[in-house]
Amino acid sequence: MRVRAKLWRIKNSKAVCHLCYNLCQIEAGEAGFCGARYFDGRELVTKNYGVISAIENRPMEIKPFYHFYPGSYALTFSTFSCNLDCPWCQNWHLSKEREFRGQYVGPEELVAMAVAKKSHGLCASFNEPTILFEYLLDVFSLAKKKGLHTSMVSNGYMTPAALKELSGVLDAINIDVKGDEEIYKLISRRENLKGVWRNVKLCLDLGIHVEVIHLVVSGLNDSMEKFEGILRGMERYAQSYVPLHINRYFPAYRYVHPPTSVEFLYKAREKAKEMLEFVYVGNVGGHENTYCPECGRLLIERRGVVKVYMEGNRCKCGKEVYGRF
Ligand SMILES: [Zn+2]
Repeated sequence: MRVRAKLWRIKNSKAVCHLCYNLCQIEAGEAGFCGARYFDGRELVTKNYGVISAIENRPMEIKPFYHFYPGSYALTFSTFSCNLDCPWCQNWHLSKEREFRGQYVGPEELVAMAVAKKSHGLCASFNEPTILFEYLLDVFSLAKKKGLHTSMVSNGYMTPAALKELSGVLDAINIDVKGDEEIYKLISRRENLKGVWRNVKLCLDLGIHVEVIHLVVSGLNDSMEKFEGILRGMERYAQSYVPLHINRYFPAYRYVHPPTSVEFLYKAREKAKEMLEFVYVGNVGGHENTYCPECGRLLIERRGVVKVYMEGNRCKCGKEVYGRF
């Protein structure tokens, strides 16, 4: 469904979109980099409001959220397209699609589905949810009224203005930091790595629960030198308690390099643990447990059933653990 977009203005008879860091300047009759935001000459409209490509009830651990209501389920939904263009995209069948031919599901209908399926929350994932900005505001606002939690799995490339508006209705975000400036030059219209890191910090300041994902792509960023860049970002913009997920890549879309070396992933985890409390390796089969960074006790067990061994958000030793439990 087409609706008037938020966050744009007219400049030199073009529409400048302020939803994400690409800051597309869109001529009349054209769409921005994401293909979803179209300037009709009078106003910027979104072509994908409520156009849904997939809906599935999924555990938070799969996304991955490890410190946000472990063991709970969120009705997870997506649309098509993306505001970045990664040649190794793991969800390319959705992200590279620029025709918005999905079923229309209104916000009320989607939230009613979550309630009917006894989901604990709603999560926007699979493709980049920023593209669904106007829809997310409506869906998440309704979800909050029903007592459901709200989350998104994102590349964090939205503008701070977009993030601030979302923060009124968004409980948790996973931000995928891709690597260094060179990578963002390759995949975006306008490189802004620093902006992604600043958004990590902004989420913490706004009280949004945040976990960081980093996909280690073979032949691209699978060196300890590049990985240390991620750790410097965590040190500067996040806190030592923010969970870091180091994820394994598999060949997809235009990228044919072999899957990431598991040995490298574990080496990276050891390095990260020198400064971060919670570091997880993902996409290697199964899920990792959470242990207390102070005393080493098992806090959250993820073997089939998720079990939380904490009192509130504290370990038996008294250590406070970041997250919502
Ligand atoms: Zn402890």
